Amino acid sequence: MKTILKIKNLHVSVKDESPEGHCKAILNGINLSISSGETHVLMGPNGSGKSTLSYVLSGHPDYKVTAGSVLFKGQNLLSLTPDARAAAGLFLAFQAPIELPGVNNANFLKTAVNSVRKARGQEELDSLKFLKLVKETAKKLSFSSDMLKRNVNVGFSGGEKKRNEVLQMSLLHPSFAILDETDSGLDIDALRVVAEGVKSLKSTEFSSLIITHHQKLLDYIRPDYIHVLAKGRIIHSGGPELSKRIEKEGYSRLLGEFDA
Ligand code: ADP
Ligand code: MG
Repeated sequence: MKTILKIKNLHVSVKDESPEGHCKAILNGINLSISSGETHVLMGPNGSGKSTLSYVLSGHPDYKVTAGSVLFKGQNLLSLTPDARAAAGLFLAFQAPIELPGVNNANFLKTAVNSVRKARGQEELDSLKFLKLVKETAKKLSFSSDMLKRNVNVGFSGGEKKRNEVLQMSLLHPSFAILDETDSGLDIDALRVVAEGVKSLKSTEFSSLIITHHQKLLDYIRPDYIHVLAKGRIIHSGGPELSKRIEKEGYSRLLGEFDA
C-alpha cells in the first residue's frame, strides 16, 4: 500500500501570550506513517498536543516546526501554503469551527469546492450543478437545507457546526482528512452522521486521522490503528482493541510503561 503521510521526528513549538513571546515546545518527536485506505485514531490526555498536530499539518501560522519532516504524497507538506495543502487533498475538521458572519454558507461551500477543483485541474461547477451536488450530499448527511442559506456556522448548535464540517469534507473529496474531536458534544444521532460521513468516503484512495475520546465513534468507524499521544509523543500504538484497554485503565498505565 502507498504511504500517504509520513511524519518523522516532528518537533513543534508555539509562541505563548507573554509579552516576551516565549516559545513553548509542545510536540517532542512525533513519528507516524499512514498508508492510503487506512483509518488511524489519535487518543490521549487533554493538553497532550493532539490539536497542535492537526494545526501544524494544516499550516496554522502560530505553530512552528523546530525539527523533523512531514511528507504528504511524497512532497514536503511543510513547504506548502494552507491552500496548496487543501488542493493536494488534505482536509482538517476543526475542534472548534469558526463562525463567519456575513458569509452565506452555500456560497462559502461553492467557493471552497471550486477553488479546490480548479487547483486539481477539474472543471468548476456552475451554480446549478453545485446546488444539485450540495443538496444531494446534504440529504445523505441529514443536513437541513435551511442551514445552507444561513451564514457560515453563525447561530449553529455544536452538532450543526460539526455536521457542516462533515458536509464540507464530503464536498471537497479529500484524500486525507483529519477530524479533531468532530464528535465531541454530539448526541447519538449526530455522532452517527459524523461516522457515516467518514464511512461514505472510505476507499483505497482515502485515509484519515481521527482524534476522539469516544468509544462509540470507534465502534462505528472501526479504525485500523490507534495511537496514544502523551507529553508530545506517541507513547503507544496498537490495533482497535487498544481503546478498550484505555477505557478500563486510563492513560496512566501506558504512561508508566513508557517512562519505565
Ligand atoms: P490537546 O488537543 O491534546 O488537548 P493541544 O494541542 O490543544 O492539546 O495543546 C497542547 C498544549 O499546548 C497545551 O498545554 C496547550 O495549552 C498548549 N497550547 C496549544 N496552543 C497554544 C497556543 N496558541 N498558545 C499557548 N499554548 C498553547
Ligand atoms: Mg484538542
